[in-house]
Amino acid sequence: MIDSFGLRDILDIALAALLLYYIYKIMKESGTINIFFGILAFIVVWVFTSQILEMKLIGTILDKFMSIGLLVLVILFQDQIKRFLVALGDHKKWAFLRKLFHHTRGNEAERDMRRYVLPIVYACMNMAKTKTGALIVIEQDISLESYEKSGDMIDALINARLIENIFFKNSPLHDGALIVAHDRLKSAGCILPVSHDRNISRSLGLRHRSALGISQATDAFAIVVSEETGNISVAHKGSLHTKLTSAELEHRLSDVLLNV
Ligand code: ATP
Ligand code: MG
Repeated sequence: MIDSFGLRDILDIALAALLLYYIYKIMKESGTINIFFGILAFIVVWVFTSQILEMKLIGTILDKFMSIGLLVLVILFQDQIKRFLVALGDHKKWAFLRKLFHHTRGNEAERDMRRYVLPIVYACMNMAKTKTGALIVIEQDISLESYEKSGDMIDALINARLIENIFFKNSPLHDGALIVAHDRLKSAGCILPVSHDRNISRSLGLRHRSALGISQATDAFAIVVSEETGNISVAHKGSLHTKLTSAELEHRLSDVLLNV
């Protein structure tokens, strides 16, 4: 058996390990890691009882679960499967090729930085100073259209003063999230999914929890300015980073948006 162990088997094991790693990573980011361990535990019990010890009664019951298991998993994890496929086909993974062949990338990045990143950072700094609560969500590869529809459409060019105006206390649109997509301020007053993560600090309320929630449900990047403390936080890929300086916000934002 050892003799027949070849390059193909090594590749087979490496691919299976990579697949497991990707599933683990995506479930961790989407806050469903406990389910991942639950499924692993179920498979271990099934292998022991049904396949190794060949127990008839429990084996038959678990076999039935296993046969419909795949279908149940696809229904339960539609969002995660979508994210997995989006991550696989992510054009940013090939950005290094574009950089090799496309020498103008430096200028493009600088232009995007001015048009996109700086107004958002500038608005967040001002809102932090005045302790104006804000929640800004920036679309990545997964569409946020269904969340945009829960608010009021704006569809305006990105502009720092307009962002500040939206979140100005008592402005009709200040409640909820502002969604930014395709270089535009798309919709304000949007309702986001709230994260049920237990590890999040008790001092953080719904604004922070919904920023984390959207970063678990999609690949979006969310920025929070706290009304209570004036702190700036960001949520991306299921993790929340609090108390950022404006330089850190600019760095994280350009990392995600411009791949520089
Ligand atoms: P802050 O530090 O600014 O007080 P917080 O994390 O403590 O933030 P809350 O005080 O609960 O959060 O903030 C409530 C505000 O968060 C609401 O007025 C609303 O604008 C926003 N918010 C609450 N839930 C959602 C949601 N599901 N989607 C979008 N925005 C939400
Ligand atoms: Mg609060």
